[in-house]
Amino acid sequence: MRMVAEKAKRTIYTEAMEVFERAADLIGLDPRVRLELEEPDYEHIFYVTVKLRERLVPLSKDDQKKYQDLPSSRVTEGLEPLADGRFIIRGKALLRGDVAVKGGVIRLNEHGLFRLEPAQVRRFKAYRVQHNQARGPYKGGIRYHKEVSLDLFKALAAEMTWKTAIADIPFGGAKGGIKIDPRHYSKEELERITLRFMYRLKDLVGPQRDIPAPDVGTNPEVMSWMYRQYSDGERERHNLRGVVTGKDIRIGGSEGRVKATGQGLAYCVEEWYADRNQSPKGQTFLLQGFGNVGSNAADILCSMGAKLLAVNDADGTIFNPEGIDPQKLVAHVYENPKNIKRSVLGFPDAQEISKKDFWEIPADILVPAALGGEITADVAERIKVKLVAEGANGPTTPDADKVLQGRKIELIPDIIGNAGGVTVSYYEWLQNQRMEHWTEAEVNSRLERAIKTNYRIIRDIATNNPRRTAAHDSRRYCLGREVDTRTAAMILALKRIEAHYQLEGFSQ
Ligand code: NAD
Repeated sequence: MRMVAEKAKRTIYTEAMEVFERAADLIGLDPRVRLELEEPDYEHIFYVTVKLRERLVPLSKDDQKKYQDLPSSRVTEGLEPLADGRFIIRGKALLRGDVAVKGGVIRLNEHGLFRLEPAQVRRFKAYRVQHNQARGPYKGGIRYHKEVSLDLFKALAAEMTWKTAIADIPFGGAKGGIKIDPRHYSKEELERITLRFMYRLKDLVGPQRDIPAPDVGTNPEVMSWMYRQYSDGERERHNLRGVVTGKDIRIGGSEGRVKATGQGLAYCVEEWYADRNQSPKGQTFLLQGFGNVGSNAADILCSMGAKLLAVNDADGTIFNPEGIDPQKLVAHVYENPKNIKRSVLGFPDAQEISKKDFWEIPADILVPAALGGEITADVAERIKVKLVAEGANGPTTPDADKVLQGRKIELIPDIIGNAGGVTVSYYEWLQNQRMEHWTEAEVNSRLERAIKTNYRIIRDIATNNPRRTAAHDSRRYCLGREVDTRTAAMILALKRIEAHYQLEGFSQ
């Protein structure tokens, strides 16, 4: 009975914290620090209300019969297609002129019958979890996705606390966003939703308080809207530019930020192979997720000579044993206006396969770069790779971790694997504070040094190899015994955070 009750309590957050608990036990973490880190500092939930535009909603099959005789209307302007098959109506043009409307229904030439949906007011649930700020201002991305929850944001915010410590940048951890599928709203609606979101967030964030960045479903444009709303009307608004990172380069973003997460992952993979006197050249890889992280990681790994065999995204999977060109795939997904869903499906140089088959393709590396929890114990049993290099946050469940260890499949854990993004976010914030602009070469050379140094410390903790070299010093962190790589990464994070509490003490 007790087992059942305990199992029922397992949530995304408690699962994500299992590695924290394990590492805290191993290093004998100060009990007060442990309590400080076990739960977030603050959990904010609020609502964002916005008036949406009128829409055209596809008519159900049954209703279509009633409008067989409705003549077709020629509308070429003022409609914006959405990924859910609806159209946003821009302006009132559609409702005037020679458009035939019957009972609120119109027929569009190629698209069929639609119901006119009047403009509606909608409420969206929004979150910001601020996990810890012992090492610096809260820092973490903004996710716009239909499947988010407080539990998920708690887990992701805690991950940011560990990641900023591992990257050794002076920030803490946070995460937030809105429960929304952004593909179902027009750009103009998303702008208004984002402005309202920042209006509500304004008291919580700031360049020295909490610094959001892009995550799933958000991008530099969303960051620019957030900056505008935060700084609107402020006399010294240029000093506030560091309130968000991941901005467009032209308005204070950093060179190299868009690629940074994929770049950091590629540096880790390069280092993993360097340890084995090899390089990524000639290695094959599978990729899940072709968004910011996945597409850039793929491009950089291919430029290092690796071969991309298959890509799985939210809509399906493509495969080509001869290799997929990531740049051509970017053109197909992001530059083709007809690809409204931004899906890899339909890419001409590859065949479509099932997600089940995707996991079973033999390759050297698997790069999960989509959402969390995708590599379950069952998937971990089936994959045929030597290395899992985590670009996504929390892609591997704790049960799957055990399977991977049992099968001797190696791991580059997310908190170092995807730390490149937040590291360059820090560089962006620094450039904003100093009113500087660094070149991409400067950014990348700092990033390479930072990622590889911290990767080496983690590797030394895992293999219990305390040492000081010209590039790194792992003596302070090794335990006197070997540990798995994920635990090693957590040990590095906890020791760095604990030092702040030990040296600065607690304000009572
Ligand atoms: P994105 O929105 O740009 O892309 C997400 C990709 O995942 C898309 O290709 C989408 O089709 C795919 N996807 C969504 N649901 C899926 C599913 N159920 N199965 C398969 N594929 C699915 O997001 P992103 O910014 O590239 O982030 C990807 C991951 O990397 C997330 O876990 C995010 O938290 C993490 N991450 C991102 C950054 C960053 O700088 N953007 C930094 C660190 C970590």
